Amino acid sequence: LSYDKDEIKEDNLKSFLDSSIVYLNKHNIKEARLISELVFSKILNINQMMLFLEYSRKLNEDEIAKIRNSLKKIAIDKLPYQYIFNEQNFYGRNFFVDKSVLIPRYDTENLVEKVIEISKEKDIILDIGTGSGAIAITLAIEIKDSKVLAIDISDAAINIANKNIELLNAKNVKVIKSDLFQNVSYNKFNIIVSNPPYISNNEIVEMGLDTYIHEPHEALFAESNGLYFYYEIAKKAKDYLLPGGYLAFEIGYKQKNAINKILEEFSYVDIKNYKDLNGLDRVIIARKDIN
Ligand code: SAM
Ligand code: GLN
Repeated sequence: LSYDKDEIKEDNLKSFLDSSIVYLNKHNIKEARLISELVFSKILNINQMMLFLEYSRKLNEDEIAKIRNSLKKIAIDKLPYQYIFNEQNFYGRNFFVDKSVLIPRYDTENLVEKVIEISKEKDIILDIGTGSGAIAITLAIEIKDSKVLAIDISDAAINIANKNIELLNAKNVKVIKSDLFQNVSYNKFNIIVSNPPYISNNEIVEMGLDTYIHEPHEALFAESNGLYFYYEIAKKAKDYLLPGGYLAFEIGYKQKNAINKILEEFSYVDIKNYKDLNGLDRVIIARKDIN
């Protein structure tokens, strides 16, 4: 293990936790305290909020080794902790995740919240690029008597989405493999929603290498300055929406104007833009006109 033995004090849970935080900070891991506490609580099987009750507890060798091993994966390999514990919370529910799917982002809860607002009972919804199924399953559970068709191009993602459907008992979601609309034969959706890949190739350079190395490339990056999927989806979605139906996107924070233009080009109406809690442009919702 590459962190110095003498730098880590393992006398008891508290001292080990403290030095783990220092260790993660040293390796520029954000939210070092939160992540350290999570690692300890998962491996020691203690409620995260109640860790402090066990601060004086002595850890055995096996526990120490497991904790060190996880911390090292996070600090050195930059492995997101969600892939270590196969879990990410989204909209109050735990989803299974592994390296074959994008880790659902808190930012994406903005999209889900807006779609729930515009939805009504019995809506029929299409989720394009479902990944773990986070959006599709959440909408299916939150919107009464809704039905959700979820599509993805990745077989591995489809397996994970199906696993989450089972875990969360979302019987009103169906997942199929499809390259965008290719295998979608139904054309009376009330809502089409998508958080497509939208990071442009220039941005990879800007962001440095660490950030996305463990996530599936095809879940994140898109051609045409990150706009490829917005264009393709906007162009075809009108053939699949009911009159007055909604098209709802998560967007990159610099893409608002470009995507508004695309939606205007394809004659969508009632185009509305929403920001996230950090004040960044995050969601666009438009409607197919009623003709
Ligand atoms: N919906 C999930 C979420 O919000 O956490 C995952 C979104 S991820 C940014 C984009 C997803 O689109 C990935 O799961 C990827 O496999 C899928 N995807 C990429 N190209 C696609 C295509 N041509 N057709 C369908 N899905 C595609
Ligand atoms: N919002 C994600 C990120 O920047 C990207 C998700 C996407 O490309 N749809 O981490």
